[in-house]
Amino acid sequence: MECIFCNIVEGKSEAEVIFEDDNLIAFLDIQPINYGHTLVVTKKHYDNFLTVPSEELTHIINATQFIAGAVKRSVNADGFNVITNNGNSAGQTVYHFHFHIIPRFNADFNFKPRFKNYATGGMKEYADSIRSIVSKYKDIYNG
Ligand code: 5GP
Ligand code: ZN
Repeated sequence: MECIFCNIVEGKSEAEVIFEDDNLIAFLDIQPINYGHTLVVTKKHYDNFLTVPSEELTHIINATQFIAGAVKRSVNADGFNVITNNGNSAGQTVYHFHFHIIPRFNADFNFKPRFKNYATGGMKEYADSIRSIVSKYKDIYNG
């Protein structure tokens, strides 16, 4: 299937590239939440966060830290988000793994965030469920 980020990696589509090495490429998002909004993209095609091999993930996280510092300094942001959307329900629109670096300004969050509240005992139930899956699959963790 046609992948816009693979096309950018292969030089078939244009992008404002700000950093590149053997494993990743970082370029400006075409529809920024704030100016300077940057995407850090693996050169190899992985559908999402869960399918990136561990070593490559370590590399891209280190690069994202470096690039985020440059983006923040460049636009004189007060802060920034590093996020990855996974699946349609989470807002993923390009199914090629990437981190977003979104510069943030104090005025961006002048509204009250909406949170859910757990029912009594609910927090432990959710934690128990996640803990049991973590325990079942702990062999695949190589941190
Ligand atoms: P996602 O929604 O998958 O988390 O993020 C995909 C991002 O890629 C979106 O923020 C979107 O604006 C950006 N994007 C989509 N197509 C292009 C493109 O052709 N060039 C660039 N630079 N960004 C793109
Ligand atoms: Zn791709």
